[in-house]
Amino acid sequence: MTHTIQGLPVARGVAIGRAVLASSSRVEVPHYFIQPGQVPAELARMGAARDAVKAELQRLQADMPKDTPPELAAMLDVHLMLLHDEVLGAEIRRWVKERLYNAEWAITTQLEIVSRQFDEMEDPYLRERKADLEQVVERVLRHLKGAPAPVAPPAPGRGAPGQDDTPLVLVAHDLSPADMLLFKKSVFAGFVTDLGGKTSHTAIVARSMDIPAVVGARTASHVVRQDDWVIIDGDAGVVIVDPDPPLLQTYRARQRQAAQERGRLAKLKNTPCVTQDGQRIELLANIEQPADADAALAVGAVGVGLFRTEFLFMGRQHKLPDEEEQYAAYRAAVEGMHGLPVTIRTIDVGADKPLDERHAAAHLNPALGLRAIRWSLAEPEMFLTQLRAILRAAAHGRVNLLVPMLAHAREIRQTLALLAQARAQLDARAQAYGPVQVGAMIEVPAAALCVRMFLRHFDFLSIGTNDLTQYTLAIDRADEAVAHLYDPLHPAVLQLLAHTLAEGLAQHKPVSVCGEMAGDTAMTRLLLGLGLRHFSMHPSQILAVKQEILQADTRRLAPWAQTVLQSDDPAALLASA
Ligand code: PEP
Ligand code: MG
Repeated sequence: MTHTIQGLPVARGVAIGRAVLASSSRVEVPHYFIQPGQVPAELARMGAARDAVKAELQRLQADMPKDTPPELAAMLDVHLMLLHDEVLGAEIRRWVKERLYNAEWAITTQLEIVSRQFDEMEDPYLRERKADLEQVVERVLRHLKGAPAPVAPPAPGRGAPGQDDTPLVLVAHDLSPADMLLFKKSVFAGFVTDLGGKTSHTAIVARSMDIPAVVGARTASHVVRQDDWVIIDGDAGVVIVDPDPPLLQTYRARQRQAAQERGRLAKLKNTPCVTQDGQRIELLANIEQPADADAALAVGAVGVGLFRTEFLFMGRQHKLPDEEEQYAAYRAAVEGMHGLPVTIRTIDVGADKPLDERHAAAHLNPALGLRAIRWSLAEPEMFLTQLRAILRAAAHGRVNLLVPMLAHAREIRQTLALLAQARAQLDARAQAYGPVQVGAMIEVPAAALCVRMFLRHFDFLSIGTNDLTQYTLAIDRADEAVAHLYDPLHPAVLQLLAHTLAEGLAQHKPVSVCGEMAGDTAMTRLLLGLGLRHFSMHPSQILAVKQEILQADTRRLAPWAQTVLQSDDPAALLASA
């Protein structure tokens, strides 16, 4: 029966496909596709983990003191039995062989299926066996973690074998930004998660993949089952499970229209980005990995306005990239842009971008804690390593260095002093490096209010409207429970934005917006009216925003933007304009 789930739209368009459930096991597991040739090795890895758990359980049995309660001994028997359950094992191997899931994903997928069967059982004794199964699975997963596969191989470019070319859509309770990166080049036609807000980093990576996505869909991972047909309506933020044929037809027609629209937009790639009244507007790309430079160039971006370097650092299990690895990555991005400028932001971990599980658990209130520049200043050796790598990459092209989340004069001084120290270290090593323009993100209200101080110290500014909204309104941007209050059009956010732009203009220093607002076509005219001339966004949004800009006249938009700014309800004015 058709079932509709409301969530938050994060990436536009319609995806129709069969559901693939990413498990939400208590142990965090990686999800990726293996290559067909890797199936035997993956099965062997799984077998070795199972054998290790068997040995572990047998050791426990052997070491059991005489007075051990019989229930405990029986429990170990049950665990050993589950470990060798033929049906279970065959089903798990099927996910590896037919769908090319990695071992952890295959195991947790089957665990979820079996758990649901347990939940439906009448007999309380049998129902409770679910906990045993979970415990055995956790043991196996821990062993797999100790024997990780080589770095996740690239996903196959098409549907999994044995499955024809039916598109697949991913449904998960939650996905970390690091997980999303693994899926970036994967087969999925769309994403749904139970958790997350519109500007959570998971949503941001989904958007960069230019495939329909819905987050904050609360119950999706419970309602949807493996292989269900699912429609993801990324425009309305709706997920439709098991749609009836007329509905399916309607959505297929919408997919065709969207493809035509994309074809029309593609023609704008080489059109100069100038408004009706002759204002030249710069459209820059936000990227997460050096390889994203290709997508930026493909849509005619004139540079990278935000390279979120933290994605190089995430999911590395305490082994942070060293200077050489970082230098190679930054240099690849710089060279990939063929002489166009690349704005490299120093690491912004914390909040919804934890470095690893330990980091995620360590903080009381991560969004207000040791995040971004605060973390960098607390780890000066790590920060100096990154600064040296960026300076060295600047020898290969135009590089701007951008610092996230500054608020205090003291932080500005410390940052600039460390930058000078990084240069001195490279001088001492006689190592080549290049000049950089240095900029600050304005993403804390304190920074926006004291923007003159920032303009005295920096060559340019970039407004991070995602965090500026989060911190102005005290709304966790990743929390779907308060997502209805997250509003970049709140008058307070707009005033901070307008103030920052006006001060930058007065000091003749470039100010860009690199938050999600810059790529939202509903905001383009307002931002132009407020004086924005440098937009940075995911490549996938660039052509649609360009279309808006080509039709705009800033002479008319400027006075209108002032009325919006004075209004109690800017969203209503935008909707009626
Ligand atoms: C922002 O806060 O708007 C921004 C661009 O930074 P991030 O989304 O990476 O926090
Ligand atoms: Mg930010």
